[in-house]
Amino acid sequence: MPTELSFDVAIVGAGPSGLVAAILMAEAGCRTALVAPDALPADRRTTALLGASVRLIDRLGLLPDVAAKGAGMHTMRLIDDTGRLIRAPEVNFRASEIDREVFGYNIHNAFLTEILAARVAAMPLIRRVPGKAVTVTPGEDTIAIGLEDGRTVTSELAVAADGARSALREAVGIGWAVWDYPQSAVVYDVAHRFPHDGVSVEFHTPAGPFVLVPLPGKASSIVLVETPDKAAELAGLSDAAIAAETERRAHSIFGSMSAASPRQLFPLTGATADQFGKSRVVLVGEAGHRFPPIGAQGLNLSLRDVGTLAEVVGAAKRRGEDLGGDGVVASYDRARRIDVRTRTFGVDLLDRALIADALPAQAMRCLGLAAAARLAPIRQLMMREGLSPTIGTPRMMR
Ligand SMILES: Cc1cc2nc3c(=O)[nH]c(=O)nc-3n(C[C@H](O)[C@H](O)[C@H](O)COP(=O)(O)OP(=O)(O)OC[C@H]3O[C@@H](n4cnc5c(N)ncnc54)[C@H](O)[C@@H]3O)c2cc1C
Repeated sequence: MPTELSFDVAIVGAGPSGLVAAILMAEAGCRTALVAPDALPADRRTTALLGASVRLIDRLGLLPDVAAKGAGMHTMRLIDDTGRLIRAPEVNFRASEIDREVFGYNIHNAFLTEILAARVAAMPLIRRVPGKAVTVTPGEDTIAIGLEDGRTVTSELAVAADGARSALREAVGIGWAVWDYPQSAVVYDVAHRFPHDGVSVEFHTPAGPFVLVPLPGKASSIVLVETPDKAAELAGLSDAAIAAETERRAHSIFGSMSAASPRQLFPLTGATADQFGKSRVVLVGEAGHRFPPIGAQGLNLSLRDVGTLAEVVGAAKRRGEDLGGDGVVASYDRARRIDVRTRTFGVDLLDRALIADALPAQAMRCLGLAAAARLAPIRQLMMREGLSPTIGTPRMMR
């Protein structure tokens, strides 16, 4: 086994962002290393892949696999369950209103990564390099990534897809602002008596959203946001007790329920990098941004990072330029700023307006939802921007 391996691009991290980045880099003709530990941590979350992300998955020829393992969603129903004096009307976002059959597909992260990993394995330009990156040394023409076992991967460009605690981001000194929310999410699956019919339901409670997202068959994936203590208590309930609690919170809209998976707890944090590239390293996915699970935005934003990067790197490759040179890194950084900042700000605002005690914040939130409920053009604009933002969606995902 050689101790030094040389590539055009090295991707560090094989979560969904890293896997898609590897596929797109190889499609752009780059010899690509995918550096990641063999075993992935258990992830019970699901991802609602929406609009532009579905187009990307389709472009990769993976839509039949994703649709087979996931569930299509054609309606998103928002219900104000705050019990407050000022309450918003119910809003129904329907895909048919913007001439679509579905908004997208909800799929377990475990299935999504399995589908993506199978494609990675079939691409001769990608080499999986098992291991954890421990050192990062940017140089004049290449960047060297040292692994735990002493091997070194060198490449022109390194893509940090190594999650919120990114070692690459830290190694090149990119600033990372982190903030906490007084909330945790409990994630699990339930089976229910009545079909969901492709409808995703989001109850807005004073502690945060409580969301039922369609899964294949009569089942939904639950994201229940609560105060950290309450969330920990709920995560510790028996199957029967969590099923009864879920049905109670869902006002029995899908009838009686049973727990279909163990519970997983996620303390909610927000974070953003102060730039998205530096010294031959670019950030994609949670290495660059993190926010609460409201409106299913996190991975959808990450896929726009990856699509944008593929376009910038593909253009540099065609021109025969240095793939990790200042030009490429700066173009990518510029291209991602507005989309990441506006999504981070928007999700933060939505969450804070929901849990705020102050009447003016509650009134503003209700006015916004009332406008969406009553005015079709506003509702349609919100749907279009939610699925495929005007600023930030790369050409290949339009
Ligand atoms: C409760 C919840 C629900 C969510 N629901 C949705 C949703 O419906 N829609 C949506 O779009 N988003 C959703 N998100 C967000 C989404 O899950 C994340 O954005 C996504 O999982 C991040 O993927 P990633 O590949 O960027 O990072 P990760 O999944 O964190 O992957 C990082 C990978 O890097 C590896 N790694 C780390 N360090 C190293 C190293 N030094 N060397 C090598 N490898 C390393 C790790 O092992 C890991 O596999 C949700 C988030 C939460 C918390």
